[in-house]
Amino acid sequence: MSLVSTVRGPVDASELGVTLMHEHIFVLTTEVLQTYPDVFGDEDLRVADAARRLEELAARGAGTIVDLTAIGQGRFIPRIQRVAQRTSINIIVATGIYTFTDVPFYFRFRGSDHMTDLFVRDITTGIGGTGVRAGILKCATDAQGLTRGVESVLRSVAQAHRATGVPISTHTHVATRRGLDQQRIFQEEGVDLSRVIIGHSGDSTDLHYLEELIAAGSYLGMDRFGIEGIRSFDERVNMVVELCARGHADRLVLSHDYSAFIDWFPEQDIATRFPNWHYLHIHQDVLPALKHRGVSDAQIHTMLVDNPRRIFERSGGY
Ligand SMILES: [Zn+2]
Repeated sequence: MSLVSTVRGPVDASELGVTLMHEHIFVLTTEVLQTYPDVFGDEDLRVADAARRLEELAARGAGTIVDLTAIGQGRFIPRIQRVAQRTSINIIVATGIYTFTDVPFYFRFRGSDHMTDLFVRDITTGIGGTGVRAGILKCATDAQGLTRGVESVLRSVAQAHRATGVPISTHTHVATRRGLDQQRIFQEEGVDLSRVIIGHSGDSTDLHYLEELIAAGSYLGMDRFGIEGIRSFDERVNMVVELCARGHADRLVLSHDYSAFIDWFPEQDIATRFPNWHYLHIHQDVLPALKHRGVSDAQIHTMLVDNPRRIFERSGGY
């Protein structure tokens, strides 16, 4: 038995099934939403729409999604609980902070130990009185690099990981090879890099960079299928094909980084600009393309089922 925290309670890692390792349900600018709620619209309709989309994914055979929405992206667990009540899919939620520059002002004068303590509380006790425990830690490093704020979040995430055993999943900017900066900070904090997923690695076509991350032991998130403004469908598929051919299927996880609703863009723009960005794209389009280009069923199973299980089964009961 190796229990993983989900929104509906603990699930054995062996029961997670096909797992999409980097998704969102709602990404919201909380203060804007509170001031201009019409952008979000009817709460019940949004919840029902998210649950319907996740049920469609479950009907394709998926067992679990990891919702990597952290502080800074409008995480609100009671709303996620309402979605979880309406879908059979397991939802694993995250704690951590999403920033490319500074920590939120709340944390600025309280020190990083306080940040670490709150992350640990989210993992061991639950988030905001809901009793829902975070099953994974999230942090980000973008083009701005290791600013003081970003570095303090990375170190707090590493310390919370060491205290609890739950894995770490990141956002990176691939053009500046930020995954290597993250690995260096985590290593300084004593993190076993095989417990880390370097996110958005699928935005890169630099095999040398990706193999450097793998050589240090981490998993790569090939996790933005459908975001074709950054990389085309073929570029994203070809990188997975190439990495599998080089024997790295045991270090890759697949996902979309999709949100049932995100307020960062006008809603119609998403459908027009990214028509393939939705929870079903991997099942409908990516897996057939991978198979067509020589990726085996066993390698697909490794990326979608075995790797997520391995990542979570060492979570130490949280
Ligand atoms: Zn994301």
